Amino acid sequence: MTKIRWGLIGASTIARQNMVKAITAQPDAEITAIMSRDHERGQKFAAEFAIPMAFTAVEKMLHDAPIDAVYISTTNELHHGQTLLAAAAKKHVLCEKPLALTVAEATQMVAACRQAGVVFGTNHHLRHAPTHGKIRALIKDGAIGKPLYARVFHSTYLPLNLQTWRISNPDAGAGVILDITVHDIDTLRFVLDDEPVATIARATGGEMTPQHIPDGVMGVWEMKSGLLAQFHSCFTTKYAGTAFEVHGTKGSIIGRNVMSQRSVGEVYLRTETGEELVPTSHDNLYVNLVKLFHQAIRGEQKFAASGADGLRSLAVALAVAESSRTGQRVVIGD
Ligand code: NDP
Repeated sequence: MTKIRWGLIGASTIARQNMVKAITAQPDAEITAIMSRDHERGQKFAAEFAIPMAFTAVEKMLHDAPIDAVYISTTNELHHGQTLLAAAAKKHVLCEKPLALTVAEATQMVAACRQAGVVFGTNHHLRHAPTHGKIRALIKDGAIGKPLYARVFHSTYLPLNLQTWRISNPDAGAGVILDITVHDIDTLRFVLDDEPVATIARATGGEMTPQHIPDGVMGVWEMKSGLLAQFHSCFTTKYAGTAFEVHGTKGSIIGRNVMSQRSVGEVYLRTETGEELVPTSHDNLYVNLVKLFHQAIRGEQKFAASGADGLRSLAVALAVAESSRTGQRVVIGD
C-alpha cells in the first residue's frame, strides 16, 4: 500500500502531544515535512520527531516537499489562509478547530477543498471517542426512548503552558467558546444526529482572561428535534469533572469524565431495571480519527467531522458568543 505523506503546518503543542503520534501510528503514513514560522522551532521539532524537511513558509513546503495531506494546527486566525493554499496545491487538509474566525471564511475553505477535490476534515476528536460512539449507538437502538434533554459539562482548568494566546489574543480567536464550546457542539450534533437551531448563553471573563474575553460560558441550545441541551464550558475550574448526559422518555445515559482528549470515562445506562455500566473500549481518539481520514483519502468512506461539520460547529459557537454579548436569544441560520 502506498504511504500517505503528511506535512505539518504548525509546530504546536497539539501536534507535539497528540497528532504526530496519531499520524505515525498508522501503518500507511509518514511525516515528510514541517512548517514553522520560527526557523529554530521548526528545526527542533523536525529533529525531535525525525521529520526530514523543515520550512518557514507554507507555500515553499507545499511546493518543495513530497506531501499528500497537511495537518494545520497553527493559531486560529491562520487556518483560513493556510487551508486555501493547501487546497490550491491539491493537498488533503485536516484542520484544527475552530476552522476559522468567521462563517464566511470557513465557507470559503469548504468550497475551496470541494473544488480542488481534496478531503477536508476538522479535528473534532471527541466524536472519535469510543464512549461517545457508544452513547450514540444506545440512542439509535432506542435504549432511552425519545431523547428529551441533554447536558454537556466541559468545565476544565486550562493548563499553564496553554495560558498564552488562547486567553489573551482576540485576533487569534481567544476565549473558551472557540476553544472548548466548539467541541461540545460537534459532539452533541454527532451523538444526537440533531442540529442546534437557536441558543441563549451567558459568559464570564476576568478570572483567567481579560474581562472581555470569555473564560467560562453556560447556556442552552434548542435543537431541531425540540430537544433542549444545556452546556457549560470553562477554563477556570480544577475539580468540576466533565460529563455528557442524555435523558429520554425511557431512560438516561450518563457519560462521566468523557469530555477528554484521552480515551477515558465511563458510560452508565439507567432505566426501569436499574443502572448498568456499559462496556466501552479505550482506543486513542486521535489515532481513530487519522485512520478514518486515511480511509477518506483512499475513497473508502466519507470522513466523519468533515469541513462542513467544522463550519457548523463554528457557526453555532459564534451564535453562543453573540448571545453572551447581547443577552439575546440567537437563531442559527442554515
Ligand atoms: P500552540 O500555542 O502550542 O501552537 C500554536 C502556534 O504557536 C504554533 O503553530 C507555533 O507557531 C506557535 N508556537 C508554538 N510554541 C511556541 C512558543 N513556545 N512560543 C511562541 N510561539 C509558539 O497551540 P495549540 O497546540 O494549543 O493549538 C493549536 C491549534 O490546535 C489551535 O487552533 C487549537 O484550537 C487547536 N487545538 C485542538 C485540539 C483538539 O483536540 N482538537 C487540542 C488543542 C488545540 P509556528 O507554527 O509558526 O511555529
